[in-house]
Amino acid sequence: STQKTWTEVDDYFNSQLVQEKDAMNEVLKSNSEAGLPSIDVSAAQGKMLHVLAKIKGAKRILEVGTLGGYSSIWLASALPEDGRLVTLEASEKHAQAARKNIEHAGLKEKVEILLGPANETFPSLAETETDPFDFVFIDADKRNNPSYIKWAIDLSARGACIVVDNVVRHGEVVVKDSQDSDIEGIRDMFDILSNEPRIDSTAIQTVGSKGYDGFLLAVVK
Ligand code: SAM
Repeated sequence: STQKTWTEVDDYFNSQLVQEKDAMNEVLKSNSEAGLPSIDVSAAQGKMLHVLAKIKGAKRILEVGTLGGYSSIWLASALPEDGRLVTLEASEKHAQAARKNIEHAGLKEKVEILLGPANETFPSLAETETDPFDFVFIDADKRNNPSYIKWAIDLSARGACIVVDNVVRHGEVVVKDSQDSDIEGIRDMFDILSNEPRIDSTAIQTVGSKGYDGFLLAVVK
């Protein structure tokens, strides 16, 4: 089958299952008006994050890569009243768009955006956030995935769920000598995981409106 079919199937599932789609489409519209790239997770993936966070009963969520807050809103709307989501974003323009969308979604009290390159904000986060996270979603610059997965494990509670997006990249993940720094980052992350006793992981290939890709799903032991 083809991209056309994958998109039609996503549209069909979403029309049947994603009751939140009007509100979530508003976020995408606001992002496109602000000139943000449409590299958010798909609606089906966003809903999956929401469902996983609910399965986990997540109360403290960490996200790396906010963009306009599309996935942040999917995740934060799964939180209980006293839940909290911290999301790390390097771009002021993206953070500003996200702030607006998160406020509009009524989630301002639950969400904090930490502005700056994540490798710079992680150390301060480790100092200020004394309670561990129970759900982590990594979706920023893929070349830094090795650093982000280590921080995610360090800042997570036992039993925490970790999801890393875009680990397949049209199958390029198997190109050993790839010169693409994103692929190198993804492969270096898998090298770390192959020898990391603190975490139990799998990776799943996906097709859909965003093409052929996949995600890593892990639990902290
Ligand atoms: N998770 C978002 C969603 O699904 O709605 C999409 C995130 S987008 C794929 C990646 C984001 O990571 C961009 O907004 C980009 O500015 C941000 N980013 C890139 N490098 C970063 C870094 N070093 N630290 C933090 N964020 C970074």
